[in-house]
Amino acid sequence: MQEYTFEPCPYCNGSNMLVESSRTKFEVHAVRCRKCDMQGPGSLCEEKAVDLWNRLPRFPLFQGAEASEVMRLLALIRELESCARFPL
Ligand SMILES: [Zn+2]
Repeated sequence: MQEYTFEPCPYCNGSNMLVESSRTKFEVHAVRCRKCDMQGPGSLCEEKAVDLWNRLPRFPLFQGAEASEVMRLLALIRELESCARFPL
């Protein structure tokens, strides 16, 4: 198992991540935050999944209610993506 360097979770700023693999038709890898369960973009390549996670936009300037709204929208986007998920 390879060691990766993860950027903090964009959702909760947590630093405890793992790479999960799910196999349906293809084996898809995605980084998941152990603290809040946020899942990053899926990829057929594990390294690419980590890279995509590390490139996710982070909003250190948002706080309080503003941050909650950003997180709510991110969760909504995530939900929409999961409704139409095709491995790239
Ligand atoms: Zn998190």
